[in-house]
Amino acid sequence: MSRPSHTTLQQRLSEGVVLGAEGYVFELERRGYVKAGPFVPEVILDEPDALRQLHRDFLRAGSDVMVALTYYAHREKLRDVGRADDLEQMNRQAVRIANEIAAEGGALVAGNICNTWSYDPTDAVASGAVVRAQYEEQLGWAVEEGVDFVIAETNDYVGEALIGLEVCHELGLPAMVTFASVQATTTYDGYDYVEACRILADQGATIVGLNCSRGPQTMLPLLERIRAAVDIAVAAQPVPYRTSPVAPAFESLASADGLHAFPIALEPFQCTRFEMAEFAVRARDIGVDYVGICCGAGPHHVRAMAEALGRTTPASRYSPAIDLHPVLGAPRVVGQEELMGGWTAAEA
Ligand SMILES: [Zn+2]
Repeated sequence: MSRPSHTTLQQRLSEGVVLGAEGYVFELERRGYVKAGPFVPEVILDEPDALRQLHRDFLRAGSDVMVALTYYAHREKLRDVGRADDLEQMNRQAVRIANEIAAEGGALVAGNICNTWSYDPTDAVASGAVVRAQYEEQLGWAVEEGVDFVIAETNDYVGEALIGLEVCHELGLPAMVTFASVQATTTYDGYDYVEACRILADQGATIVGLNCSRGPQTMLPLLERIRAAVDIAVAAQPVPYRTSPVAPAFESLASADGLHAFPIALEPFQCTRFEMAEFAVRARDIGVDYVGICCGAGPHHVRAMAEALGRTTPASRYSPAIDLHPVLGAPRVVGQEELMGGWTAAEA
C-alpha cells in the first residue's frame, strides 16, 4: 500500500486542528459539471480539469485534506445513470486527481465512501453484503492508487457505518466515520447520534462525528455532546446554511411560500464566510479536531475558516481589503452583528 503524504493523519491531528473541505458534488453542480438529482460525479472522467481546479481552489484556501471525489461513485449509483462500465476507471481517476493536487501543497489524501442506499436494517445480513461488496471494490482501488485514510461519511445507519469501518480495517486504513444528522435525534436505525459515534469509536474508528445535513447553529449542540462522549478525535463538517431548531437539517429548509429549498434553491439560506469562520473557532474551542465544511461550500468559506484558525493560506494573498474600496472603505454604517448575518453566538 502506498501512502501519499509525508505525515500521517494521527501526526497531523496531534499538531492541532485539521481543516477539511468538501461539498465537491454541490459546487460542481453549480459550476455545470454534475447533474442535480442523481448527483453522480461523472465529471471525474468527462471534465477532469474542472475537478482538478476545485481541488486546487480548496487547497489554496487552506484545506489540509484532498478528498477523492468518489462520493456516489459506487456500483448502485453508476448503474442508475447507465455508467456501470466506468466504475473502476471513475474511482481510480478520482483518487489519482486528488493525489496529483494534494502533492501541490502537501495535503493528506482521503479515500471516500458514503451511504449507499443499498442498506436495509430489516434485512441487515443480505443488504449488508451488498454494501460491503461496494465498499470493498471502491476502497480496494483507492488503496492501490494511494490514500492516507478514508472518510466514510453521510452515514444514515450505524449498521452501514460499521461495515465501512470493517472494510477500512481489513485494508489497514485509518477511518474517519461521520453521520448525517437528518433526523432530530437518531439515526435511521434508531441510535442516538451521540451513541452512534460512541459505538464507532469503540469499534476502532480514528475520528467520529457529523457531516452534512446540519448547519453550524444546529450541529454545534450535538458536537458538544459527542465531544463529551468519546475520547478520540471528533470531526465536524456542517453545511454552510442557516438551519435552525425549526428546520435543523437543510433537507427541511423551505421558502416562505413552503417550497422545498433543498437541494438547488438553498441560496437564501447560505451562510456568509464570517459565519463559517465563527463556526470554525467555536468548533475548535469545544474540542473538535477535524473542522470542515460540506455541501454548499465555496473556497471563500474555507479560506475564512483557515484564517480564523490563525493560518495564512496561498489564497490569503487576495483576502478582502474592504477598507481600500473608495466607498465601502468609508466609516462603517452597519454593525458587526449585521455583517455576520444577524447570527450571534448567544443565539446558538
Ligand atoms: Zn454534504
